[in-house]
Amino acid sequence: MNAELYQMYRRLNLSDSVLNYCSKIEDGLKERFEAIDQIAEYNQMKVIAAMQKNQLSDIHFAATTGYGYNDIGRDVLEAVYADIFKCEAALVRPSLTCGTHALTVALAANTRPGDEILSPVGKPYDTLEGVIGINPTPASLAEYGISYRQVDLLENGCFDYEGIRAAINEKTKLVTIQRSKGYQTRPTLSVEQIGELISFIKGIKPEVICMVDNCYGEFVQTMEPSEVGADLCVGSLIKNPGGGLAPIGGYIVGKEEYVEQCAYRLTAPGLGREVGATLGLNQQFFQGLFLAPTVVAGALKGAIFAANIYESFDYPVIPNGSEPRYDIIQAVTLKSPEAVIAFCQGIQAAAPVDSHVTPEPWPMPGYHSDVIMAAGAFVQGSSIELSADAPIQPPYAVYFQGGLTWYHAKLGIMMSVQKLKEAGLLNI
Ligand SMILES: *Cc1c(COP(=O)(O)O)cnc(C)c1O
Repeated sequence: MNAELYQMYRRLNLSDSVLNYCSKIEDGLKERFEAIDQIAEYNQMKVIAAMQKNQLSDIHFAATTGYGYNDIGRDVLEAVYADIFKCEAALVRPSLTCGTHALTVALAANTRPGDEILSPVGKPYDTLEGVIGINPTPASLAEYGISYRQVDLLENGCFDYEGIRAAINEKTKLVTIQRSKGYQTRPTLSVEQIGELISFIKGIKPEVICMVDNCYGEFVQTMEPSEVGADLCVGSLIKNPGGGLAPIGGYIVGKEEYVEQCAYRLTAPGLGREVGATLGLNQQFFQGLFLAPTVVAGALKGAIFAANIYESFDYPVIPNGSEPRYDIIQAVTLKSPEAVIAFCQGIQAAAPVDSHVTPEPWPMPGYHSDVIMAAGAFVQGSSIELSADAPIQPPYAVYFQGGLTWYHAKLGIMMSVQKLKEAGLLNI
C-alpha cells in the first residue's frame, strides 16, 4: 500500500496494526481475485452483447405513465434479460416490488387449487414461509388449496434423491429450488448442482415446472440456472442484477408459457404484459444491469477478504476462506453479542450514508431475539450495498453481503476489525 493511501486510511480511523494485518491477508488473495475478475469480464460482455443485439437506444429511457401501453423501453429491458438468462421470455418491472413479491407471483401464477409445490432443498427463505403458508398466513397459497412438501438436504449437504423421488406425486406441479443458502448454514448450490437436481426431477416427472429462487446468485458464475434446465428463474433488483442503481423491482425469466402466466397474475388476466408504466425507471434498470457484473465481483472479493481475515482469528466462517463461491453472502460466527455488535458498528461506520449512526440490537417482527442491522445504503434495504445483520442469539453469527465497490467492502471489513479491536475482543 503506498503512503498516500495509507494516510487516507489512517484519516478514516484505521490503526496501523489493523491496516498492516489486513494488507497481508489481501496480498494472499491475488489469484482468487483474478479468477473473479475473469468471470466479471465474461458477464460484462454477455450484458453488452444482449444490449447491442436488442439495439438499446436512449429512446428506451423515456418515461411512460398511466397504463404504460407501448412502453418500448420496458419491452427492450425484458428482451435483454431474456437474452442474458438465455430464456424465451422475461418480466422485469418496478411493479414487482421485491424478491418475495416476484417469487409469490411466479408460484401463484403457475399453480392451481389441488396442486402441490415441492422444495427439495429444505426450508425456503423466511418470507416464503408466509407466502406458501407453512405458517398460517392470510392469503397464503395454502388458503387457495395449494399444498406444500419439503425434502431436506442430507446432513452432508447433498440432495436426498430417494426422499425427493418419494415426495414427487400426481399433485406435484412446481418444484422450487433456492440457490443461495440465504440466512441458513446449508451450502449454497452451484448452477451445476442445480442442473443435476433438475435433470433428476424431470426424469421422474417431465412436466413438472422447475423454478429457481436466484436471489444473491446472479453473475456469480458465468452460467445461470435457466441454462441448466430451470423453467423459471426469479430474483430481486435491489440485489445483484440491479447493480445498486435499480431503486425497486424484481424479475422473472423463463419459458414463455410460464412467464405469461406470471404477467396475467401480476397485472390482470387478459391484460398481462401490455400494461405497467415504468415511470422513468428504465434507465436505472439498464444502467444497473450494465454495472451488475462488476458490482457482484466487488461484493465477492469483499466476502472472500472477510472470510480469510476472520478465519485467521479462528472464528468459524461459511463459506470458508478458500472454497468456491456461488452467492455473495458471508456468514461469520463471532461467538459473543459484543463481537456481533462491534462488527455491525464497523460496517456502519464505513458507509457512505448514515456513517454517523450507531446501530443497536432491537426487537423485530418475525424474530425470536433482538436483531442488529448495519446498512448505510442509497436504496433502502438494498443488500447489494454493503450491509450486515445478525440476530442476538447463539452462535452469534453475523451475515453480511454486498458492497457496490470492492474498495468500500474492504473499508467496511477493516472497520469491523478495528471496532472488534477497540472493544478489546481482538488482539492485533
Ligand atoms: C432476499 C431473498 C428473498 C426475498 O427477497 P426480498 O427482496 O427481500 O423480498 C428470497 N429468497 C432469497 C434466497 C433471498 O436471499
